Amino acid sequence: MKSDKMRESDNIEDRRGQGSGSFGGSSSGNGSQLLLQLLFSSGSWKTKLVILLVLLLFGGFSSLSGILTGDNTANYDRTSQVSTNNTTASDQDAQFVSKVLASTEEFWSQKFRAEGMTYNAPTLVFYTNRTTTGCGLGQAQAGPFYCPADKKIYIDLTFYQELTTKYKAAGDFAMAYVIAHEVGHHVQNEIGTMSSYNKARQGLSEKASNALNVRLELQADYYAGAWAKYVDDQGLLDTGDIQEALNAAHAVGDDTLQQEAYGKTVPDSFTHGTSEQRKRWFDRGYQYGDFTHGDTFKTNDL
Ligand SMILES: [Zn+2]
Repeated sequence: MKSDKMRESDNIEDRRGQGSGSFGGSSSGNGSQLLLQLLFSSGSWKTKLVILLVLLLFGGFSSLSGILTGDNTANYDRTSQVSTNNTTASDQDAQFVSKVLASTEEFWSQKFRAEGMTYNAPTLVFYTNRTTTGCGLGQAQAGPFYCPADKKIYIDLTFYQELTTKYKAAGDFAMAYVIAHEVGHHVQNEIGTMSSYNKARQGLSEKASNALNVRLELQADYYAGAWAKYVDDQGLLDTGDIQEALNAAHAVGDDTLQQEAYGKTVPDSFTHGTSEQRKRWFDRGYQYGDFTHGDTFKTNDL
């Protein structure tokens, strides 16, 4: 994607390197807090010496500063510092994601305006490992996600590398597709599709609920495709970009993911659609780019 001259979004919240506080408490941290309490309480000097040795041996003193300053996140940052060592690459990735987000803001603002609506853009949160969200604990291993309750998209940028290493879907536009898909969920939230979906889902069997979820996900893929058409019309795509997005859509298909993880597929448990469906709905969005052709909830031809 020709992103050099694209503007970055203002709707970014950078939590990289921050601990998640209430969720980050490791057992070693709690253990050393207990030992410190013992150290400062009564006891023989021998006991204190043993405690001191234990603390020194197991790195308890790194959390000492945290306890003394009231900064309980000190413990958890150690892991995130490791993952942010390659700051340059990570910052470039963040910049790219921010540019994609800005472009979706322009696209959806235009689309909403044409329908007499106003688009309220989502906030995108960068984090490392885990973070608190309006939808509970956000964890990097779950991949990028959108939380309807706080209208934020959460991304741990290590996913960008995982697209290449784990999903075999390399390229900047593979990542762009992922962002645009999450923005698609925000669009669903803004126009009320998500609340209709939540109502319709009540009382359904798991199988029927999953089937409805597939429709929601394929529509987000369609919206991602619609955005891809918008940037293509601006001449911002490189050769192969659409193929990168299609590869990514294929890679995150339920059948492909299940086949790789378990060696078999269970169609009733599909929540996002097959690889073929995901590619097809992205491509359909890319062909039409409008709202009407993206009604995955009405069609019999999913
Ligand atoms: Zn989704």
